[in-house]
Amino acid sequence: MTVTNQPRALAQETFRRLRVIHPDAHCELDHVNPFQLLVATVLSAQTTDVLVNQITPKLFARWPDAPSLAKAPIPEVAALLRERLGMFNQKGKNIVGLAKKLVEKHGGEVPRTLAALVELPGVGRKTANVVLGVAFGRPEGVVVDTHVQRLSQRLGWTTEQKPETIEKALCALFPPEDWNMVSLVLIFHGRRVCFARKPACAACGVNDACPSAFAAENVGRKPPRKRPTVVIEAAPKKKAATTKGATKKAAATKAAAKVAVKKGSATRIAPKKAAAKGKGSGRA
Ligand code: SF4
Repeated sequence: MTVTNQPRALAQETFRRLRVIHPDAHCELDHVNPFQLLVATVLSAQTTDVLVNQITPKLFARWPDAPSLAKAPIPEVAALLRERLGMFNQKGKNIVGLAKKLVEKHGGEVPRTLAALVELPGVGRKTANVVLGVAFGRPEGVVVDTHVQRLSQRLGWTTEQKPETIEKALCALFPPEDWNMVSLVLIFHGRRVCFARKPACAACGVNDACPSAFAAENVGRKPPRKRPTVVIEAAPKKKAATTKGATKKAAATKAAAKVAVKKGSATRIAPKKAAAKGKGSGRA
């Protein structure tokens, strides 16, 4: 596992500065208890927090806890989710299934260990750590989403490429009490400043500590189009030669027509017409 080329202390200092820059970093999924956070996080797969927040008030108004959602007909839940979310059949099945398991195995409560959470339908390591970190303040790892992956690489905190190995690298860099905030702060910085396509390095408060500062600005952009100079230079010469040739042919046609008229051998071809014909076809 490659952790980083930077000293651990520098990574922690950069993180401390990012926390000051984003004091409002928090989980943006609306919820009032661990159950709602768990359901909302499962629903957030492959979509945005904004869309999930648009549908969960309606969902929780109808089925506010695990016992009520466990009894809900899956087609009705899916139909409600369909108003805002894709994969509504699978997501409906997952949240009803997890509610049933919560009732059967955990007395309707959300378990507080990663091992128990990942046994629930639709819950993976990432979802489990969101719930453990945000709802209970006890994550068992760092949540690595697309922002965390991109920023931890740009900041030089890891050279790993896969989420699982990036998570291990980040867990080695920071103490467990910071794991939840490391993820949230990187997500906020990624959404506000360090954009995927064109990071705003000039406005970034940690650009003096970032090895990718300004170098990452053109990532994802196409290079400017270059025209081959040979085409530009060759075009006028060719055109001039063609014009010259056509003029010569036209002049020859005109002269031949005049001669023909004089001799009376081409009495029906007028000189003007013959010249025009010669120009268009290129034949005398
Ligand atoms: S300096 Fe640029 S690349 Fe580095 S974290 Fe800031 S915005 Fe991202």
